[in-house]
Amino acid sequence: MVSLDVDAPNVREWLIAHSDALQDCNPRRTDTLDERISRSLEFFARLDAAGLTGWGWPAESGGRGGSTEHRAELYDAITAAGFGMPEQVGALEVLGSALMAHNPGLASRYLPELLAGRALWCQGFSEPEAGSDLASLRTKAVPDGDGWRITGQKVWTSLGHRSDWCGVLARTGAPDSRHRGLTLFWVDLKAPGVEVRPLLTLTGEEEFSEVFLDGVYVPADHVVGPVDGGWGVAMDLLQYERGMWAWQRQAIMHSTLSELIRDLDESDVLAASAVAEGYTSLAALRMRCRETVKRLAAGDLLGPEVSIDKILLGQTEHLIHDAVRAVRVQDFAVTDSAEAAAARAEWFYSRAATVYGGAAEVQKNIVAERVLGLPREAARG
Ligand SMILES: Cc1cc2nc3c(=O)[nH]c(=O)nc-3n(C[C@H](O)[C@H](O)[C@H](O)COP(=O)(O)OP(=O)(O)OC[C@H]3O[C@@H](n4cnc5c(N)ncnc54)[C@H](O)[C@@H]3O)c2cc1C
Repeated sequence: MVSLDVDAPNVREWLIAHSDALQDCNPRRTDTLDERISRSLEFFARLDAAGLTGWGWPAESGGRGGSTEHRAELYDAITAAGFGMPEQVGALEVLGSALMAHNPGLASRYLPELLAGRALWCQGFSEPEAGSDLASLRTKAVPDGDGWRITGQKVWTSLGHRSDWCGVLARTGAPDSRHRGLTLFWVDLKAPGVEVRPLLTLTGEEEFSEVFLDGVYVPADHVVGPVDGGWGVAMDLLQYERGMWAWQRQAIMHSTLSELIRDLDESDVLAASAVAEGYTSLAALRMRCRETVKRLAAGDLLGPEVSIDKILLGQTEHLIHDAVRAVRVQDFAVTDSAEAAAARAEWFYSRAATVYGGAAEVQKNIVAERVLGLPREAARG
């Protein structure tokens, strides 16, 4: 497995040396989501006490300095040492980067809480009528005194019912202003007017929520980026949502794959072939994301090409979890053990990878039109 080549002293050594002591808060998928969230918070608290969660975040925001490469190294080290990925990493990567770039004051206030395992965040972009076509969203924000009042509904908000803060994209322009009239707000989910209802997923867990906002007050200093400039912030944040999310998922899948190879009966040709397909795709994903992590660290602005990371991620998730099913076919189909239930839940979750963070069909269109320069779909044939 190709390494990141980054100097992050002691991260791997510390995790291995403290492996036994950290098992009571290992956030692996063998417990309920609530249990995993509690473990994730505790895991982050202990890593923070050792100065590890701050790697890759600037000192003025409570971090330890470094870049996306240091964060990527931490995520790799966590899974390589046999731990599950803490639940807060997804929102941290997506929203932490947006706060740093577009409202450093909010970052210095709220990032330390998350890095210390005292808070969870969520992303309030999708709505019942606005997913792939995000620019059609209808949640509205109107000025009120020194701040704003937000009214509307979000859906598929991961960890919404357990989160403290939500990055809400809302319309501040005219109803037909599309991407020109959007603004990103940092919303306190305990504020009056917020109601969060958990939604059950195919994995049997309440992984995401509906978030209802009824005239929720947001102070002016909780606007992230320019008013009506939310589309630019969202596009900026998508580099991390697609690139860094894919990196941390490949780290998880490498650990899944190495456990799988230990259990593989090499005379089972079908299972061996499924593992080989998964491995090949995973190797390509890692190489691709490694490049993305390094470009983000160098301050490059990634364009539509980051959709390639997302396409590779979706494809690899399917192949790796199909390989799990092929190797452990009997266990997967009929056993009630916690491990079998976890493997089934992971398989179902892998199917969401071609939907969340931008559906695969839409990503393929972006690559075709904006990376390869092919004619727009309507103009073809
Ligand atoms: C596990 C999970 C977690 C999520 N977490 C969050 C979260 O935390 N916060 C958040 O805001 N959202 C979240 N989402 C929502 C996610 O971003 C949306 O599901 C996604 O953007 C797709 O939108 P949609 O579900 O409305 O599907 P639609 O946009 O309605 O798409 C339905 C189907 O039509 C296809 N399609 C749509 N437009 C086109 C087109 N132009 N060309 C070709 N095909 C097209 C799509 O590819 C898809 O197959 C999550 C989703 C999942 C599955």
